[in-house]
Amino acid sequence: MARLMMAAACIALLITVGVAGVQSQRQPAGIAHNGDAFRFNKVADGVYHAIGTGTLTVVGNSSVIVNDNDVIVVDDHVSPAAAWVLINEIKKITNKPVRTVINTHFHFDHAHGNQVFDKDVSIIGHEFTREMLLGGKSLQMPLYKNYVTGLPEQIENLKQRVAMESDPSRKAMLQTQLQAAENNAASQAELKPTPPNITLRTNMTLYRGDREIQLRFLGRAHTAGDVVVYLPKERIVITGDMLTSALSNMSDAFVNEWVTTLDELKKLDFVTVLPGHGEAFTDKAKIDYFQAYLRDVWTEVSRLKQQGVSAEEAAKRADLTKHKEHFPTITAPGVPLIAVTRIYELLDSKR
Ligand SMILES: [Zn+2]
Repeated sequence: MARLMMAAACIALLITVGVAGVQSQRQPAGIAHNGDAFRFNKVADGVYHAIGTGTLTVVGNSSVIVNDNDVIVVDDHVSPAAAWVLINEIKKITNKPVRTVINTHFHFDHAHGNQVFDKDVSIIGHEFTREMLLGGKSLQMPLYKNYVTGLPEQIENLKQRVAMESDPSRKAMLQTQLQAAENNAASQAELKPTPPNITLRTNMTLYRGDREIQLRFLGRAHTAGDVVVYLPKERIVITGDMLTSALSNMSDAFVNEWVTTLDELKKLDFVTVLPGHGEAFTDKAKIDYFQAYLRDVWTEVSRLKQQGVSAEEAAKRADLTKHKEHFPTITAPGVPLIAVTRIYELLDSKR
């Protein structure tokens, strides 16, 4: 009888933790959070833009495409824990299994959830994305190194702020942030970058019932292997970090090619953009604004380099304030050093 009860308890446990697409995987560390970790914004029938609420560290957005018999997830966040919770919360919108994951690019905040999926789940990405996620290459990139080495300091800082805060609601908010940061650190410790098991070089199309899901490589931009996911019938494009709702990171971008790649993006017939960061938008002028910024940052930083200015100094001096109307994070002259370093590197490689 006791054995029977234990078996029943095990089954119950499996039902609670079992998540379609990841059933055989061990539950990752750091999944604890209060309330929903994601908002699923419905943008079309079966198409959702998933944005983190802040109770769990997820960093990038994902998109969820619910088809007749299966689910496709585009991008899977910053850690195994974040991907696990995403898949779990998808059950609130559908009980269909996740059978396909698409990585828009290899960056840690978009592809470091790959490891939670079962082997029979297709993980699709550009050849370059596979190359970078193989053998830990992605972990050596300055972007990730900066991120992960900054986590202990972030946690310490939050602990101090929690201790000093007297307002109960602000204290509770800081506690949530601290819990999210600590859980993120626990999940990063279990990270094993997992590459796509299906790759593309230019284009690929998935057909699911009436739905057509196009994967397009439009040229180098935010990385050497950005893929956009285009739903022609729904007129939706999922852009990863090639186009976000604000300025996109340039740590390993092809800043001088990005404008042309965005011209290719403009040729697609879409209404709605689901970006890798920020809210969905329909204003196509945002592409023009970003192209203008990219042109100017390239010109300005090139000019400073030509004058023999060091990258550190150029990062302080480069003046892009004329773009502040469209990019409110620009409040004074200065460009992130990681972007300037990258532009210097590109200029040097052109010689
Ligand atoms: Zn990125």
